[in-house]
Amino acid sequence: MDPSTGSGPVSPQQVETRLVTAGRDTQAQKGFVNPPVVHGSTVLYPTAEDLHAHRGEFTYGRHGTPTTRALQETFMALEGPQCAGVGIAPSGLAAISTTLLAVLKAGDHLLVCDNVYRPSRNFCNGVLARYGVETTYFDPLIGAGIEKLFRPNTGAVLVEAPGSQSFEMPDIPAIVGMAHARGALVIDDNTWATPLFHRSLDSGVDISIQAATKYIGGHSDIMFGTISANAKTWPTIAENIRLLGVCAGPDDVFLALRGMRTLAVRLNQHYRSGLEMARWLAARPEVIRVLHPALESDPGHAIWKRDFTGASGLFSIVLKPAPQKAVDALLDTLKLFGMGYSWGGFESLVIPFDCDGYRTATKWAPGGPTLRLHIGLENVDDLKADLERGFAAFNAA
Ligand SMILES: *Cc1c(COP(=O)(O)O)cnc(C)c1O
Repeated sequence: MDPSTGSGPVSPQQVETRLVTAGRDTQAQKGFVNPPVVHGSTVLYPTAEDLHAHRGEFTYGRHGTPTTRALQETFMALEGPQCAGVGIAPSGLAAISTTLLAVLKAGDHLLVCDNVYRPSRNFCNGVLARYGVETTYFDPLIGAGIEKLFRPNTGAVLVEAPGSQSFEMPDIPAIVGMAHARGALVIDDNTWATPLFHRSLDSGVDISIQAATKYIGGHSDIMFGTISANAKTWPTIAENIRLLGVCAGPDDVFLALRGMRTLAVRLNQHYRSGLEMARWLAARPEVIRVLHPALESDPGHAIWKRDFTGASGLFSIVLKPAPQKAVDALLDTLKLFGMGYSWGGFESLVIPFDCDGYRTATKWAPGGPTLRLHIGLENVDDLKADLERGFAAFNAA
């Protein structure tokens, strides 16, 4: 690294280093370590000729600022050499909807994994259907068996690995192989692992999505999404982001960039603590199953081990059959595990969930009440003590 500029050639460095060095231009930042948060719409052109030609590093606030460029450069350094560009969206769901609108057209067919984030399904069923795109849902464990679901008009496949409630692990390379043989694109919602632990684009995925609201931001204080595209799809994504007018607020862009600087240290701790809590929970008499692909006993473990280099702090447990009031007593007793949606911040969270109401390609029958846990950055002994109190209330109810 050149210490006078604070940046330098990044490709030979390890990812932890790239997360720290990428996207920084100390001279342009007047010596400061971080870029300014540019609040801007109008960009002034120095001459009429420049204006006519739309010439300039930046042309209009919606199309990019020094802050968004720093974020995009850092994200590209995280994704690796298959990434041709990173699009910015105001939420994870907006990143998914923008991507699907960009790559599909009326008359197309879309294949969607049955374990994807529920609002992604709602977008397919509620918006794409209106625009003449038909969606077929498939079993997350289908593997190469997805072959028989392709039609001549299948434009794309949307996967999530693992699904962020039920944690089945789709075989992405097998799905990519079948999709590419039939001219369809593969889109991966990679929010759970982030590109730190799963380089989707290296697995052949065409477009990798992050609900950056989660681990990229990392502090439960922003809504943000990213669309990382390979060379084949980036021109389409970039064009459609422009056509749709998709952009994000500068403070959220800045906070996402700030989150990336500490992503590696945070996520490695979520991984360690999450796995320790998962093993501890697996040994509890109140828990009949832990759904966590990094556990050797998990059905998705072999795929996780092959395709991922780590796990985040999000997983689910199946409790032994119990009345709702026992589960509610557990939830109401917890102090460190807050009840609420989203995840990926520094704090531990818990929600009850049930996939039965929306899955259509597969039956969800876990055998007991299910809870999703996010293991935050608290001390794990404190988290265990909190859950122990919860289990005492569960058993008493
Ligand atoms: C949260 C989430 C999203 C949506 O992100 P928002 O920023 O809340 O819109 C998409 N996919 C997955 C897997 C998520 O967990």
